[in-house]
Amino acid sequence: MIQIDDTLISLDLLERHFICDLGICKGACCIEGESGAPLEEEELPLLEEALPEVWDDLSPEAQAIIEEQGVAYVDSDGDLVTSIVNGKDCVFTCYDSDGTCKCAIEKAYREGRVRFYKPISCHLYPVRITKYAGFTAVNYHRWDICKAAELLGAREKLPLYRFLREPLVRRFGEEWYHALSECAAAYNAEG
Ligand code: SF4
Repeated sequence: MIQIDDTLISLDLLERHFICDLGICKGACCIEGESGAPLEEEELPLLEEALPEVWDDLSPEAQAIIEEQGVAYVDSDGDLVTSIVNGKDCVFTCYDSDGTCKCAIEKAYREGRVRFYKPISCHLYPVRITKYAGFTAVNYHRWDICKAAELLGAREKLPLYRFLREPLVRRFGEEWYHALSECAAAYNAEG
């Protein structure tokens, strides 16, 4: 475990290798699981603002769920999460011609149609952030659906924290990421 300010970071971020291999997993993390993607309170209005722009990209089932309960709900753990269809797919999923699942919000952002990239929890996945009294835990959520990403990451020798540089900087800032990189260098030097 590494501590930077009030964050406790699992050594998995340094030791595990990871590069998403969409050709194999087909973006399964947006589909599998029993709950939606965790949302920060301040992200809810940003999702609602983006909704009209992505509406036509969503499935009729997703549109019906959103009309009924909105873009988010509170799950059985008491967390605010994105709404889901059939108990698993995020309502914001859309599909490429080759069947790869994509995020409709991210797609619209890349096309310059919305100002919200996507929820930080999705951007950070497979890292999960959990807030406790006095500290924030930063952990690797290991899941079978990402097996190909571990293999590709190992082939390319890319540690998880480096694969997730952009979202980690978005969430914790450049200084924090720099401190983590220095910890990783010291840890690797120790062997
Ligand atoms: S996090 Fe896992 S399931 Fe999601 S795109 Fe990456 S490898 Fe695929």
